[in-house]
Amino acid sequence: MKHFALVGNPNSGKTTLFNSLTGSTAHVGNWPGVTVEKKKGTYKKLNEPISIIDLPGIYSLSPYTSEEVISRNYILNERPNCIINVIDATNLERNLYLTTQLLEIDVPIVVALNMIDQVNKNGDQINVEELEKKLGVTVVEISALKEKNIDVLMEKAYKESFKKREGRTIIDDKDLSNLINKIKIAFEEEKVENPLFHSLKLIELDELEKKDYGYLLPMVDEFKNTFKNDLFGTDFEALIADSRYKYISQNFSPLLIKKQKNKFETKSDRIDRILTNKWAGIPIFLVILFFIFHLTFSENLFFLGGLFKNVAPSFEGSIFEGLLWTKEGINSPGVILTNFLTSITDWISSLIENGLDNLVESNAINPGIASFINNGVVGGLFAVIGFLPQILCLFLFFSILEDSGYMARVAFILDRIFRRFGLSGRSFVPMIMGFGCSVPAMINTRTLADENEKTATIRVIPFFSCGAKLPILTAIAGGIISLVNLGNVDFITYSMYLLGMVVAIVTVIIMRHTTMKGEVPPFIMELPSYHIPQFKALMLHLWDKTKHFVKKAFTIILASTIFIWFLQSFSWNWTYLPEEEMSKSILASIGQLIQPIFTPLGFGSQLTSVGWVFAVAAITGLVAKENVIGTFGVLAAAIVIGFVPPEDGTETIEGLSAVKALIDTTGITIPALLSFIAFNMTTIPCFAAVASAKAELPKTKFKGTIIFWLVTSFILSCAIYTIGTWWWTSFIFIAVLVIACFVIKFVNQYLERRN
Ligand code: GDP
Ligand code: MG
Repeated sequence: MKHFALVGNPNSGKTTLFNSLTGSTAHVGNWPGVTVEKKKGTYKKLNEPISIIDLPGIYSLSPYTSEEVISRNYILNERPNCIINVIDATNLERNLYLTTQLLEIDVPIVVALNMIDQVNKNGDQINVEELEKKLGVTVVEISALKEKNIDVLMEKAYKESFKKREGRTIIDDKDLSNLINKIKIAFEEEKVENPLFHSLKLIELDELEKKDYGYLLPMVDEFKNTFKNDLFGTDFEALIADSRYKYISQNFSPLLIKKQKNKFETKSDRIDRILTNKWAGIPIFLVILFFIFHLTFSENLFFLGGLFKNVAPSFEGSIFEGLLWTKEGINSPGVILTNFLTSITDWISSLIENGLDNLVESNAINPGIASFINNGVVGGLFAVIGFLPQILCLFLFFSILEDSGYMARVAFILDRIFRRFGLSGRSFVPMIMGFGCSVPAMINTRTLADENEKTATIRVIPFFSCGAKLPILTAIAGGIISLVNLGNVDFITYSMYLLGMVVAIVTVIIMRHTTMKGEVPPFIMELPSYHIPQFKALMLHLWDKTKHFVKKAFTIILASTIFIWFLQSFSWNWTYLPEEEMSKSILASIGQLIQPIFTPLGFGSQLTSVGWVFAVAAITGLVAKENVIGTFGVLAAAIVIGFVPPEDGTETIEGLSAVKALIDTTGITIPALLSFIAFNMTTIPCFAAVASAKAELPKTKFKGTIIFWLVTSFILSCAIYTIGTWWWTSFIFIAVLVIACFVIKFVNQYLERRN
């Protein structure tokens, strides 16, 4: 099958084009560096199917970053039948820099002038005919986003793919051209493919070329002795880069006809003056984040509860009460959706339960089977699925922030501050991706050049609480509120997310000053311009998330809950136990065995006889974090035999109320519950994330990473529990932290002096 490669700068719209061409749903983000792997898809509207490859974004073909190496090797070794060079037409000059290098390779090229919709909107114009003439390749104006002209682009690329194209360079310095030619001939004699490209790269003294074709270097050196450039001496790499830029500004820049000379700052600039302000930037980010949590979790929307109380009585008895509001206030969209879904799942589970009860009474089935279906399957599954609306809600908001271009600003703001602590804004890109899922976030760290920075980043990615951890947060926060009738779910979840971020920052600082020392590489990220997020793209994100979640619920989570059900329903000699006797089950004995480990964290031996469920839940979370709540769902029914549901009779034991009931029966305290959340958030992540960490980390660092997760989560949770229970212990923790900082400082000074 013919294959075409999409090559272009980061954020030029390659993935958007890829998705439009192939109907895929690869992640598109409005910041550079989202695609770090190559992706494949098929375009089917031509005479034959064409394989399309989305390569990582690059600014040049030099070998300095892994993206550059991946893309360059693909083009040279896999020989695509045509390169589609995707260009952000709103940034014509910068994007053409890469084009001038691609032209030197002997491969058919079509230039896709993308984002032409934006260019037209700005009132600008590009002289395409002239551009085509100067480049010597076909140029097509497209909009990947609006799917404009993309079929034309493919037809032209298809046509080109039958032709042979010989590389040519725009470098016209006479002496340099002579050298290029001489070396090119040497390469041709050796029958090396792409002689022109290799010749130029060798002259640039590119590391990869030096390794492969070092025997031709004497020729370059000989030339160097006779060559003298006033500006660059014999730094050929700089010299060549300079001639490219000169050529672009002389020949291509005039082809962009601006509507008016843009003396004023653009709208993006004006917004950025506020959003990326030195002082206001972070507070604004925190406020935006809070509102996202507020809209997702609050049961007192915009804090109107006080006012609402006055009018609430006039709505009393409405069927929407409970769904849209409660006596305490108006529900947020996230809560409304959750209530809606829970009312459906509650209804289904009560139908199933009643049906099974009848069957058991008439002796049609064994009570064990009924319990298996009720608790093992339905209970665990629904406990988890009930959180889908809030997960999606949170994601929708995060996607909006990302797609609008704001998240790129956050990385920029944070870079400015954290550079001092040994962190670059580049490492915040994968960290913030961690809010979605740790797996792609860890893969994204491939772009971090400094190995120690990469390791430190991978270690803290799980602290950026992912979607799967959300049920733990929400359910337990809900439980805490029912316990004390104080605070709001949104406050608790928001604080926990912040806590995760703070722990990440603190531990990175510690690592970067001890075991993971290294330079902070410069962070050059061009801020993408703001745009209104595209409805279609947002829906694709959400749809992807839903598919992933539902698939996981019905496979790994279901399997785990069934497994848990078996362990809690049988004793060691394989006799089935009725619910009241769960304390004799295999699970109970295992739980009781590991329970003491968690005593310092507040959810260990100090709980009542059924308190081991917390220990078990924490362990099941290692498979998938949703399992924590799934496990509660399975165990709740058996544990809370003595639990009296609220008198209004609206709540069944599934979902949120399972956790509330557990809290009541186990006697767990609020500090211990917070410690439980913190533990699950920061300890070893799920299997999938651990596997990614293992794949991405250097071999020697993996074991240390597991230990790091265990130690961090234990210290953090222990601190939360002890300080929450005995406030004065905070002095001890602060003292230890201060002493640790001093020790690190002195050791570092000592080491420095010794060197
Ligand atoms: P990549 O880094 O090259 O893969 O770029 P992406 O496909 O991730 O796109 C970067 C940003 O540009 C996203 O926010 C897209 O929505 C936006 N974008 C892509 N194509 C177009 C287009 O044709 N017009 C406009 N206005 N925006 C686009
Ligand atoms: Mg991409």
